Amino acid sequence: MSDTCKRCNDLPARNNSRWCSVCYYPGIDDDYQLFKDMLSDGYRYIDAAVQSGWRGAEEFMETDQ
Ligand SMILES: [Zn+2]
Repeated sequence: MSDTCKRCNDLPARNNSRWCSVCYYPGIDDDYQLFKDMLSDGYRYIDAAVQSGWRGAEEFMETDQ
């Protein structure tokens, strides 16, 4: 069973990574850790994701239509 990318939940993650090759960028693991910390602090999913830098605000605008 192959893991799915933790960011897009769509593409398979690359070897030894939680991310697919499309989502991956240097420092994403640090941003993701910050994102999870913000979630535990009570931030909404979108606020934690955007403010941590893990995801761009434009990603949510596209899916909000
Ligand atoms: Zn991905």
